[in-house]
Amino acid sequence: MPNQSFAEKLKKYADVIVQVGLNLQPGQKLMIRAAGAIESTAPVVRAVTRSAYQAGARYVDVIWNDQELSIARLENAPDDSLEEVPDYLFQGMEEHVANGGAALTIMASNPDAMAGQDQQKMALIRKVQSQKSEKYGSYISGMKTNWCGVGAASPGWAAKVYPGQDSDTAVEKLWESIFKFTRLDLDDPVQAWKEHVATLVKRKKHLNNKQYSALRLTAPGTDLTVGLAKNHIFMGGSVETPNGISFVPNMPTEEVFTTPNAHEVNGTVSASLPLNFNGMVLENLKFTFKDGVITDFSADTGAELFEKILDMDLGARRLGEIALVPNSSPISQSGTLFYNTLYDENASNHLAIGRAYATAVEGGVEMSAEEKEAAGINHSLIHIDFMIGSDKMDVDGILPDGTVEPVMRAGEWAF
Ligand code: ZN
Ligand code: ZN
Repeated sequence: MPNQSFAEKLKKYADVIVQVGLNLQPGQKLMIRAAGAIESTAPVVRAVTRSAYQAGARYVDVIWNDQELSIARLENAPDDSLEEVPDYLFQGMEEHVANGGAALTIMASNPDAMAGQDQQKMALIRKVQSQKSEKYGSYISGMKTNWCGVGAASPGWAAKVYPGQDSDTAVEKLWESIFKFTRLDLDDPVQAWKEHVATLVKRKKHLNNKQYSALRLTAPGTDLTVGLAKNHIFMGGSVETPNGISFVPNMPTEEVFTTPNAHEVNGTVSASLPLNFNGMVLENLKFTFKDGVITDFSADTGAELFEKILDMDLGARRLGEIALVPNSSPISQSGTLFYNTLYDENASNHLAIGRAYATAVEGGVEMSAEEKEAAGINHSLIHIDFMIGSDKMDVDGILPDGTVEPVMRAGEWAF
């Protein structure tokens, strides 16, 4: 993109987000949630808002979540006020998606911003927010409306990704990466995205035809057998809303993923990248599962906070997602750790503890809570991804009759 100004690239970025990521429909309303320093998210918010109205949006609304505002509250607000969250905020979000509005999240958070803050207070705020946004979250994870998550470079985040660089250079490099992973260096990014999505769709169709009863993952520090939910559906690339809008929930995206049977996970798994969660970075995470439940866990940093997360509810100790990403993905090949799940999860095979995607099981959305539990579709207020893949990971598919087939070898597709 040597001849393009930043403003031109930003416009292309906004157009790809609106036209492919969200696939915003004429007459639709859009809600943007901007997470991170306001001055960093604002240029993307403005470009997307303009692009959205050009695509026929009826109304675009913005919710700003700046970490400086959270810190101001944590450090100064009365302790007994931290459980208070205004209902109008969550009711408004819920109403928006219930009425068919589209939702975009722009992420520019500094992964270290919250590191010095009171962990107990943060856990409390997070719990209240998770509870209040549960209904909204079920619309999003149920794919009932079109939504998308994208990144925006900020000085705090860029400094973490490119330490030792001056701030402007680091931000510039991070923007370059974001644009490259979003395929904006290609002549026709919209067309390139359509082709990329078609490749992911081919992979997931193959896996869906197989209907493996389990996947076995092996790598140094990992030997984990993950049972897959009966009638599971591998998803990836694009998703369709019930009324037929095809959208791409994450940009970039390189994964195909499905819902494990939360009762049938056994063995040990080591994270291959640090996990960045809510401003905390957990290094050298290791989990042991027995009959689906985490019975043992260790991390070199952040273990104390994580223990609280695992105790949040029953489902927090069980798996909600298994995702496959070839090691040759552009993000993996960049050799950079982005300290942001949107990018790092597309570098590597990953698992998530917590809430499962009911949409990734045939008939899952219509199941009652009891039926979901019986099918192993995990329920939780949280959904936290952690990366496990590497060029040393093999994945085998186990068919219901016990036949074992290679799915991945040394981090690459084997079919
Ligand atoms: Zn995933
Ligand atoms: Zn996930």
